[in-house]
Amino acid sequence: MKKHNFFAGPAILPASVLKQAAEAVTDFGGMGLSILEISHRSKPFVAVMDETEALVRELLGLSDDFAVLFLTGGASSEFYLTAMNLLDKDETAGYIDTGSWSAKAIKEAELFGDVEVLASSKDQNYNYIPADVKVPSGLKYVHITSNNTIFGTQFKEWPETDAPLVADMSSEIFSRRLPLEKFGLIYAGAQKNLGPAGVTLVIVRKDILGKVKRQIPTMLDYRTHIEKKSSFNTPPVYPIYVSMLTLRWVKEQGGVEAMEKQNEAKAKLIYDEIDRNPKFKASVTEGTGRSLMNVCFLPTNPDDTDAFVKAATEAGCVGITGHRSVGGFRASIYNSMPMESVQVLVDVMKNF
Ligand SMILES: *Cc1c(COP(=O)(O)O)cnc(C)c1O
Repeated sequence: MKKHNFFAGPAILPASVLKQAAEAVTDFGGMGLSILEISHRSKPFVAVMDETEALVRELLGLSDDFAVLFLTGGASSEFYLTAMNLLDKDETAGYIDTGSWSAKAIKEAELFGDVEVLASSKDQNYNYIPADVKVPSGLKYVHITSNNTIFGTQFKEWPETDAPLVADMSSEIFSRRLPLEKFGLIYAGAQKNLGPAGVTLVIVRKDILGKVKRQIPTMLDYRTHIEKKSSFNTPPVYPIYVSMLTLRWVKEQGGVEAMEKQNEAKAKLIYDEIDRNPKFKASVTEGTGRSLMNVCFLPTNPDDTDAFVKAATEAGCVGITGHRSVGGFRASIYNSMPMESVQVLVDVMKNF
């Protein structure tokens, strides 16, 4: 039976990408060698790096003011790297607390400077995005988690601030168009919407770096990786290669704008059913920041939980159990998720 993959992360990748990725493990581009066994400094791999960066730039429309980096350590390492590289001891950064990932980012930033929590939705178990956040001037940067993978919320409007925005976009990068002029730094672990686990994409405006007084260890300094084109040490070659294949696929689909349209249509299909069907209720109220990527919903009768997971599983839908801190269900419908699979899940809901 065909499987419909609703896992939150690592998550679905296009079937064509997986096929090419599998082929490259035994024979990369007709070389007679595996992508896993060639030097990261060899011409064929340098070409992969260059193309991946070029695709990131083209798809997002990045100017040369931004550097594009492929790092390791996951989005979780960016929680401290951003603060270590951008925030001095006597400076203040603003953070908007919209979930567990934001809270972790705040905890790490506090090791390096002052953190002002500008708004939080913790009072309602993070089921909304705080509206009209007043951001004081004089902050070094303002950090947001633009899409909250666990709680199913997403910023629809970007905070008004004179400081650069630093955004954790792990679970939505390349899913919608972005007003780049507002951003100083964007980071994303690949395994939600881009590729396999193991590489973290960092996009940073170069002029915000080099301003802190502290000594930064070489490997933790973004400038090292800018200067060495993400190859100061051995980069995660295979996750980068598979991410390149996904970005080629995004481009073939019509780019980020086409993804955005498709993502809106997929999310509408499922939210409409949640709102219509008395058996279910949405975790996030319409108008308070419903995510287009992670659709969280609950059974009206908690006793229905196991029966619905069973019905979905019988239809081939996997990975719909909600995060333990929210309960209920979560359908992650990233870029690679086809409309047909969302329809299968919606049909299960209709027939339930
Ligand atoms: C998954 C996730 C993370 C953690 O990513 P790692 O690569 O596992 O460190 C951080 N932020 C968000 C929004 C996520 O979805």
